[in-house]
Amino acid sequence: MDCIFCKIINGDIPSTKVYEDARVYAFEDINPEAPVHVLIVPREHIDSALSIDASHHDLIGHIHSVAKQIAVEAGIDKSGYRLLTNIGRDGGQSVQHLHYHLLGGRQLKWPPG
Ligand code: AMP
Repeated sequence: MDCIFCKIINGDIPSTKVYEDARVYAFEDINPEAPVHVLIVPREHIDSALSIDASHHDLIGHIHSVAKQIAVEAGIDKSGYRLLTNIGRDGGQSVQHLHYHLLGGRQLKWPPG
């Protein structure tokens, strides 16, 4: 499968690792939008949150726990942060492998553009 995030997970494309375990790989976004911008990606290829089903519920909960751990280690848990996933064209998804953006380290704007 020609998926850039699968290649990153497999080590075929370099990345700056932030966290990894048997189910999840997290790395720094190559084009950071905030002082902390980490992508949290399941090792399993899932196209987007639109493809999540009941078999993924534990994985999604785990991703939220990993996000919290990364936020604590980055020192942004008290100041606050944003955890989001873009879905499809209008959602602004550019990589078709489920991933969560963890953004923090500055005051983030709302609503998004
Ligand atoms: P999205 O637009 O929500 O699909 O997010 C995809 C993200 O992947 C963007 O923020 C990109 O900057 C990031 N990205 C694309 N290629 C790489 C790469 N090789 N290493 C790290 N981040 C990447």
